[in-house]
Amino acid sequence: MTSTEGLSVRFWGVRGSIASPGREMAGVGGNTSCVEVRAGDTAIVLDAGTGIRALGDQLLRERVPHVSLLLSHLHWDHIQGLPFFLPAWLPSSRLDVVGAPSTASPQIGLRESLSMQMQPPHFPVRLTDMGALLSFRQIESGQEIVIGDVTIMARRLNHPGGVMGYRLEAGGRSVVYATDTEHYACPDPYLVRLAKDADVLIYDAMYTEAEYRGEVGPSKVGWGHSTWEAGVAVADAARVGQLVLFHHDPQRTDREVAALEAQAGIVRPGTIAAREGLSIELAPRARARAAA
Ligand SMILES: [Zn+2]
Ligand SMILES: [Zn+2]
Repeated sequence: MTSTEGLSVRFWGVRGSIASPGREMAGVGGNTSCVEVRAGDTAIVLDAGTGIRALGDQLLRERVPHVSLLLSHLHWDHIQGLPFFLPAWLPSSRLDVVGAPSTASPQIGLRESLSMQMQPPHFPVRLTDMGALLSFRQIESGQEIVIGDVTIMARRLNHPGGVMGYRLEAGGRSVVYATDTEHYACPDPYLVRLAKDADVLIYDAMYTEAEYRGEVGPSKVGWGHSTWEAGVAVADAARVGQLVLFHHDPQRTDREVAALEAQAGIVRPGTIAAREGLSIELAPRARARAAA
């Protein structure tokens, strides 16, 4: 069936590595990775960084009973909000978690990995205490799954322990989520293919190219992150509509993020930096091929 709904994207957490509150960061927001994608009644959440706490409150206000959570990977800044996601505690809710084990510890499954952050001495209550109907689904690189109105493609990208990039499609529109990914010497061909002709590419722009190469501070090569310059290269190679810079360095102030955004916008007009509260609405578009 072809969805008649487009996609709407809302950012709840846009920082990398660790939450960074503070007056100089407040415009961009200090919460770690969490992006909400809606298509009709389908509610998908990309990552459970600290931004997911406020999203949970909003979902409860809207009485959304069923949420699917796609995890890019299991690093703290992408899962630490989950224990504070109120819908997960309510028996009236259903939460389907989709992701992959870390390549650094493939024997530890998705559910077990998330349980490990919710146990003494680190946390007072356990994952098994959550009242919602929880399910855990492992996804493989190259796999395509359908959740409600949204078709999702997953592709493994470059990051220590592995990371999954996701392409979400509905109503002929598409959004690609590629956080925590390193570009090395050239645009990752797997990501270029995943992002081909996408309307929006959300991309790890934690560093500038000068910071990445060690011209400013220590070299960040091998740390698993990318730059806005590499984001522009991927977006151009994949002929993406709009590039959204994401996973901002926790030390980057509002003023500095705005400066990077302006620089990137000169090289690739229309490029924006993700900020908490930013929404992108993609109205449905007629598909080139008929629905099956
Ligand atoms: Zn991260
Ligand atoms: Zn990471």
